[in-house]
Amino acid sequence: MKTYLRILSYAGPLKWWLVLYLLATTLGTFFGLVNLSMLIPVLRVLFGQDDLSTTVLASQPTFALTITYLKEVFNYHLIHMMASHGRMSALYFVCLAIMLSMLLSNLFRYLAEAITALLRVRVVRRLRQKLFDKVSHLHVGYFNEQQRGEVMARLTGDVQEVEHAMAYMLRVFLKDPITIVGYFIVLFYIAPELTWLALILIPTVGGGVGWLLGRVLRGATQSQAALGRLVAIIEEAIGSMAIIQALTTRLYLSDKFSKENERYQQLSFAMLLKNSLVPLLSELLGVLVMILLLIYGGKMVLLGQSSFTASTFITYLIIFAQSLVPVKAISKYLGNIQRGLAAGQRIFTLADTPPAITNVPNTRSIHALQQGVAFERAGFSYGNRPLIQHLDLTLKAGKKTALVGLSGSGKSTLLRLLNRQYDVTEGVIKIDGYPIQEYRLEDLQQLIGLTTSEPVFFHDSVFNNITLGRSDIPEEAVMEAARLAQAHDFIQALPQGYQTVIGTGGTGLSNGQKQQIGIARAVLDRPAMLIMDEATSALDSTTAQQVQANIDQLMQGKTLLVVAHRLATIQNADEILVMEAGKVVERGTHETLMRQGGLYKSLSVLHS
Ligand code: ATP
Repeated sequence: MKTYLRILSYAGPLKWWLVLYLLATTLGTFFGLVNLSMLIPVLRVLFGQDDLSTTVLASQPTFALTITYLKEVFNYHLIHMMASHGRMSALYFVCLAIMLSMLLSNLFRYLAEAITALLRVRVVRRLRQKLFDKVSHLHVGYFNEQQRGEVMARLTGDVQEVEHAMAYMLRVFLKDPITIVGYFIVLFYIAPELTWLALILIPTVGGGVGWLLGRVLRGATQSQAALGRLVAIIEEAIGSMAIIQALTTRLYLSDKFSKENERYQQLSFAMLLKNSLVPLLSELLGVLVMILLLIYGGKMVLLGQSSFTASTFITYLIIFAQSLVPVKAISKYLGNIQRGLAAGQRIFTLADTPPAITNVPNTRSIHALQQGVAFERAGFSYGNRPLIQHLDLTLKAGKKTALVGLSGSGKSTLLRLLNRQYDVTEGVIKIDGYPIQEYRLEDLQQLIGLTTSEPVFFHDSVFNNITLGRSDIPEEAVMEAARLAQAHDFIQALPQGYQTVIGTGGTGLSNGQKQQIGIARAVLDRPAMLIMDEATSALDSTTAQQVQANIDQLMQGKTLLVVAHRLATIQNADEILVMEAGKVVERGTHETLMRQGGLYKSLSVLHS
């Protein structure tokens, strides 16, 4: 119920919509019932039953808000019509009444449907937006721990499941109960003894169907989980399309996909089988109840023991059959609702995941770097595997610092700590004397520009990939940034120049070109501190050196932190830090480190 209310809360302020919905539903049901009740006079007119004459009313009945009053007003006009204009005119009169009540009933039902549709689309839009915003604010670590496909399944399949369920929720929880109560009021009015019997028989119907539903739900949850895994594989495959072309990779993924696909098929088939049993069973049980009522009521009519006539009995049975429609609908749609609620729960689990990296209250703002960055006894572990321990390190503002070391020594991790993709697990990182956590996250992200060996690309124009969609940036500034990255010429040579659309992940560009565009993007805002993590690794050494020289010039007086295996690009750094197994083991200028003849020297021999 909590999940249900929470889903509904996404529709915004609901009170008046619900009042309108209840009103429309009640009126829709009322006119629907009036419509069905018209059968009694129709049958009487057709069969010419004499009992009409006994109910002839001399004057209009006195007003009261009861079914009896409405019935008497109708009978008054009908009988007068029959007496003055004959049975044929009475039949026209009844037909007109049927038309009118039918029209009104459908009008109100349509209104209720329109309200349902409105709430449904609003809930889904807001839910999806909330989830998307949430996902984009989650820390990097979350995506390492969770399968991306699972997250995708929340945003697509699960939201859709909630959407389907929404269509039925209002119906099952509000409309159908109102309709059933309305029908039963009329049924009690027509034949109380039969209705009591029906009330005893119906729970038996519900019990059987409810038991089946429980089983269907279990299957549904399993099949949703299987669907999540399937989406994960598709995501993996699309993400690595370039290497899938290798036969072994293709076979591996195809096998993995086909096994999961088969499992999903089995689970879905079992669920669909059970699902289609539900309406069958409720239909069967409904007919059983009807037959029992027919035998019991029919016997009363035939033996003359009933308080109702044969035409009333027929109408009773028709209304009763109609009252089973919402009962059956509830049993049929409860499965969808349960599935929707289960999907809702999964969505809310994701929506409630707290981001690991957040702003603390009363954050400081920062727009320029005065002193620099200091790691003090900093430590960090991925899970429970310690990587960086007791790290003391300073990066002076306005200087170029280089970070070198063997693969896996923790260079990229150190950078991630610096722009708070992760937080240190021990010690502290200070910027200009204050712990990094005290600064506004958004300021920090603007202060520190980052470009890596694998920049992210979106299916959009080169221009928008550089500006990241910001419209306030002049074209000249974008070209200037591209020139700095030595990218302007090849961008101009693309079919539509800067407006050429590139694929997700940068398809259509070489690895080196991707890195150049990544650099243009990073320098566009002239950040106070620029971090380059192997940012020119895919460029030929001449271009790499030219780009580096451009950046060095641009960042004169600003802070530059460069991670590189190709040591030629960092030889001019003010300070070079050499990392090994999460620790800085050597530091100094290129000349001093070469003279020391330690790890740096062997690295420079390796990469020369
Ligand atoms: P390279 O020069 O190859 O880029 P690096 O010095 O930048 O290497 P890092 O990327 O910082 O090294 O990785 C350091 C260690 O941390 C490696 O052993 C790696 O396996 C581990 N590691 C990196 N990222 C994660 C992660 N998201 N989860 C768990 N372990 C990780």
